[in-house]
Amino acid sequence: MNVGFVYDPIYLKHDTGQHVENARRLEAIISHLEQTRLKEQLTAIEPRAASIEELLLVHHKEHVSQIQEVARRGGGWLDPDTVMSPDSYEAARYAAGGTIRATEAVINGEVNSAFALVRPPGHHATPTRAMGFCLFNNVAIAAEYALSKYELERILIIDFDVHHGNGTQEIFYDNPQVLYISTHEYPFYPGTGSIEETGSGAARGTTLNIPLPGGCGDAEYLQAFEQVIAPAAKRFAPQLILVSAGYDTHWADELALMQVSVTGFAQMVKITKRLADELCNGRLVFSLEGGYNLNALATSIKATFDVLLGCIDIEDTLGQPPRRFAVPDVTPLIKKIREVHALP
Ligand SMILES: [Zn+2]
Repeated sequence: MNVGFVYDPIYLKHDTGQHVENARRLEAIISHLEQTRLKEQLTAIEPRAASIEELLLVHHKEHVSQIQEVARRGGGWLDPDTVMSPDSYEAARYAAGGTIRATEAVINGEVNSAFALVRPPGHHATPTRAMGFCLFNNVAIAAEYALSKYELERILIIDFDVHHGNGTQEIFYDNPQVLYISTHEYPFYPGTGSIEETGSGAARGTTLNIPLPGGCGDAEYLQAFEQVIAPAAKRFAPQLILVSAGYDTHWADELALMQVSVTGFAQMVKITKRLADELCNGRLVFSLEGGYNLNALATSIKATFDVLLGCIDIEDTLGQPPRRFAVPDVTPLIKKIREVHALP
């Protein structure tokens, strides 16, 4: 398997200071991939800056101008969670462009699958505003780019970040060409992502939310992947799968209450890869969203690459969670979601 990755030091220049979403995240990932000699097995894909036209595929002109202007003035806070430095506009254009490049490389057959190791993350960014550490919606921009440039008709986005990707949902809410599926802790930030949000008009059914109670671990996530995501993906028959890959779902991550392990992420990636192999010639692109425990983040991303490379042995040095919370029974919830979406 030829697996690509996108990385560039420009992503470190989005300087957020002591913020939980900081450059040390990518430094930890790259250094772990180097130490474990995994990086040598991957194909480097050069990112580029997304053009203004590409940003406008998703965002309003005023939003793009505002981000540009805040950077030009030296940075600042856009909301209580989201901060910019002078180089953040450039880094954010490269984060979107990096996800586009990973997508192009997969569609053109340069690599079988790819992971864009970028920041700032994207899935909370809406057409009109930055929020939740996100400036531009990297995955949504790559999806719109693939729809227009390659004339694709059906793209599946799977979002396993612990937070709901409200931005991505909003962008594609009335677009039947994109099936957006999100697993997330609920109720939780940003507040959206209920079962009843399913898309509008001709796109009814192409937003699929799996709002999980805090405390879910590997077994509950696998249940969601096997009983909801897999049948929904098969019915939709995508030509490309994009993944908003957030690792704040890990039990050691302090931003949320989920109890997924590195092994659990590997199993979720395995199911996703199997779906891509079955449905769309293996076309599979990951883009980094959250994940704030550096050790869990780096180890989980290595495990993701291992699965993409076809490795069977996954190293999980962090192991299973200390079971801080009771594990909820998600069977009734999964049943209800299957009914709402009339899944086979
Ligand atoms: Zn998140």
